Amino acid sequence: MSDISTKPTEAALSSDCLFCRIAAGTLPATTVHEDDDVLAFRDIAPRSPTHILIIPRRHIASALALTDEDGPVVGRIFAVAADIARAEGIDESGYRITTNIGAWGGQTVHHLHFHLMGGRQFEWPPG
Ligand code: 5GP
Ligand code: ZN
Repeated sequence: MSDISTKPTEAALSSDCLFCRIAAGTLPATTVHEDDDVLAFRDIAPRSPTHILIIPRRHIASALALTDEDGPVVGRIFAVAADIARAEGIDESGYRITTNIGAWGGQTVHHLHFHLMGGRQFEWPPG
């Protein structure tokens, strides 16, 4: 039986991935944080006053592809998110971190990214 997964393979995407290109510096982005493992940049179509995307530099297709070995980079992403929230002045009001997975999750870019969103009230559950 063929693979019915909708998740593109890492090999298929890593050479032609939007966020790999941003991480490599070949596609411009408004960067707010970068280190050896993690990059954060402003979303091109912000849905809230603060809308920043935080990614591992290494291509990981989505949270569905994470393993125990990715623990350090995921921890780093959340620590970076807290630093950015403080820098953006949204730490006290509150904010949201979201990662979309696959078609029904609303994922459109198949490189793991966390939306850091704040500056307005959000609803629950999301639409
Ligand atoms: P997803 O829908 O996969 O959860 O989120 C993808 C996000 O990437 C969207 O919020 C979209 O606006 C953002 N995005 C798509 N292309 C670009 C781009 O070229 N640059 C930046 N900075 N954001 C992008
Ligand atoms: Zn990628």
